[in-house]
Amino acid sequence: MLQQFYPQVPHTFRFELNKDMHLAAAHFINDEHAGACQYTHGHTYFINVTIAGDELDSTGFLINFKDIKTLIHKRYDHSLLNEHPEYKDVNPTTEVVAKQIWETVQTHLNTLTNNPTCLQVLVRETPTSYVVYRPKPEDLK
Ligand SMILES: [Zn+2]
Repeated sequence: MLQQFYPQVPHTFRFELNKDMHLAAAHFINDEHAGACQYTHGHTYFINVTIAGDELDSTGFLINFKDIKTLIHKRYDHSLLNEHPEYKDVNPTTEVVAKQIWETVQTHLNTLTNNPTCLQVLVRETPTSYVVYRPKPEDLK
């Protein structure tokens, strides 16, 4: 998946987990500068989430792969992104979607006792266009 392209994040954690997902969703960019993208259209989004940490939970997971899919795929698959509350006041551009996915994943990780961290979110919107979002150290407090 992702055309076998996985950008690496330098880190010193013991474990690194990557989850690939793809989902079908529509969006529009509410700005005349967006050209044809201001009209509702669809994409097959390819998403890769990188999570790392030093400790596993009592099951032996850094995080259950299924929980990541539930958080992201279940929320956005076959939906109009603009209708989600998090995109009420901001356009669901690839950049914004990547940042929002990071926030959703990290908010969930913050509830886990083994303290994993989401180091990177990659969102590929088309075969030729993708965005990588990486948090700043101060975002992880
Ligand atoms: Zn688009």
